[in-house]
Amino acid sequence: MKYSPIQNYINGQFIDAATDQTLAVISPVDGTLLSTVPLSTAHDLDTAVKAAKAAFPAWSRTTIKERVQVFFRYKALLEKNINELAALVQEENGKTYDEAVAEIEKGAELAEFACSLPQIVTGEILEVSRGVECRTEHVPLGVVASIVPFNFPSMVPNWTIPNAIALGNCMIIKPSEKVPLSVGRLAELLQEAGLPKGVFNVVHGDREIVEAICDHPGIEAVSFVGSTKIAKAVYKRATSNYKRCLALGGAKNHLIVLPDAIPGMTAQNITASMAGCAGQRCMAASAMVAVGPVDHIIEKLCEEAQKMVPGKNLGAVINRASKDRIERYITEAESQGAKVLVDGRNPTVEGKEEGTYVGPTVIDYVRPDMAIAQEEIFGPVISIMRTNTVDEALAIENANPYGNAASVFTQNGGMARYVIDKASAGMVGVNVGVPVPREPFSFGGWNDSRFGVGDITGKSSIEFWTKLKKSTTKWNPEAGINWMS
Ligand code: NAD
Repeated sequence: MKYSPIQNYINGQFIDAATDQTLAVISPVDGTLLSTVPLSTAHDLDTAVKAAKAAFPAWSRTTIKERVQVFFRYKALLEKNINELAALVQEENGKTYDEAVAEIEKGAELAEFACSLPQIVTGEILEVSRGVECRTEHVPLGVVASIVPFNFPSMVPNWTIPNAIALGNCMIIKPSEKVPLSVGRLAELLQEAGLPKGVFNVVHGDREIVEAICDHPGIEAVSFVGSTKIAKAVYKRATSNYKRCLALGGAKNHLIVLPDAIPGMTAQNITASMAGCAGQRCMAASAMVAVGPVDHIIEKLCEEAQKMVPGKNLGAVINRASKDRIERYITEAESQGAKVLVDGRNPTVEGKEEGTYVGPTVIDYVRPDMAIAQEEIFGPVISIMRTNTVDEALAIENANPYGNAASVFTQNGGMARYVIDKASAGMVGVNVGVPVPREPFSFGGWNDSRFGVGDITGKSSIEFWTKLKKSTTKWNPEAGINWMS
C-alpha cells in the first residue's frame, strides 16, 4: 500500500475513526492500492461536531478581514504545492496531470474569491423613516457540512471550504470514499495557513456518515454535490430535519449544433467538453443535437476525438464498475441501431493494464428514446441526435430531466439568443463547450441538477452560508414623532 491508512481530521489533529471498517482506495491510473479509508460512524461525526461547535464562538467573532487572511495564505500554499497536489489528484482520480493542475489552479481562484468577501459582504443600511435606520448584516450559521463527489477531489471541496469558512462558519467535510486523499492535504494546508483548530474537520465514510450529517442537530446547513439520486435523498433528509440544504445533482448536457457553426472550433470545443476529465464532469457534453446538414462538422469531430489517447491526454474513469457501465451503454445503443463512429471500448494502455480507461467515443443516429440519450453516462462519450429544426433540438433538450448546462454552436446571434431563452438549463454557452467561466461565477444548474435555492459559488453562496440579521434603531428622542411615518 502506497500511503498509510487514512484518518479523520478533527480539532486540528489526524485521528483514527472509531471503526475497523475500511474500504480500499485504488488508483484508476494503474490499479495501485493507494490506501484504505475508514467508514466512520455517527460517533466520529459527533466528535467533529463538538470540536466545530467549540471553535465557532471565537472564529465567528473574528472580523471577516482577519478571517480572509487565512485564505490569502491558503491560496499561496495551493500555488506553492501545486505539483504535489496535482500528482495526488491524478493518482486518486485518474485524470491527466494537466487536468489535475487546472483543478488546483481553480481551487486557488476559489480561495481568491473568498479573499474578496470583505468587499462584497457589506450589508446594507436602509433609511426606513425619519431618524430611524434599518441595518442588515450577514451572520454565519454555525457548524455546516459539505459532502463532495469523486470527480474533483480538490476543486469541489474548494467550492465550499473558503466561502463557508471565511464567512465565519465552522465546517465538517465528507470527502468521496473513492478519492479521500486530497482533502487531507487541504486540511494540512489550511492549518499551515493559520486556521484555528476545530474550524475545519474531515470525517471520512459513505452512506452512514452522510445520513448522520443530515440528522445531526448540531449541523445548521448541508451542501451536497454528487449524483441526482443521492442529492434528492440528502435534500429530503436534511430539510426534513429543518436544515438548510443545497444539493447539486447529475447532468445530461446538450450541445445544439447549427450548420453555420465554425467547423474546426466547434469540433475542438465539443471534443474538449466530452472527453475532458474523461467525461467525468457535471458540465461535460454528453449529447450533441445536430440541426440540419452538419456532416462536415461531425467529420471534424471524429478527427478531433481520435486525437484523444487514453493514458496520454485522456485520463482513466474512476473504477472498473464505471468503465463497464459506460461500455454497456455504447453496446446497447449500437444494438438498438445507433452507429458508432469512433469506438473507445476496451482500449489498450501499455504499462497500465490494470488502469480503467475508456477511449473517446462518438455515436451517431442515437434516438432520444435510447438510454444513452437520456441518462448520465459520465464517460468520454458523445451521442449525436439528428433534427431538422432548432425547435426540435430544444424539445429534446427541454425534455431531459436534468438542467446543468446547454450550449449552442452558431454564427447567428439571433438564433443563439433564442437558444439561451429556451434552453432549460442553469448555465448556457454560445460557442463554448463548457460554460463555466472564471470566478466570480455563480455555479448551479436547474431541474434535477440542483435541489434547493441559489448556487454554490460566487455571490450566491453568501446567501447560503449566512443568515441576515436586521436591526432597526431609532436615534430621534423627540417626542411626538411617529417613527413609522
Ligand atoms: P455520488 O452521488 O455517488 O456520491 C456523492 C457523495 O455522496 C459521496 O461523498 C458519497 O460518499 C456519498 N454517497 C454515495 N452513496 C450514498 C448514499 N446511498 N447515501 C448517502 N450518501 C451517499 O456521486 P459521485 O459518483 O461521487 O460523483 C459523480 C456525480 O456527481 C455525477 O452524477 C456528477 O454529475 C455529479 N456532480 C455534480 C456536480 C454539479 O455541480 N451539479 C458537480 C460534480 C459532480
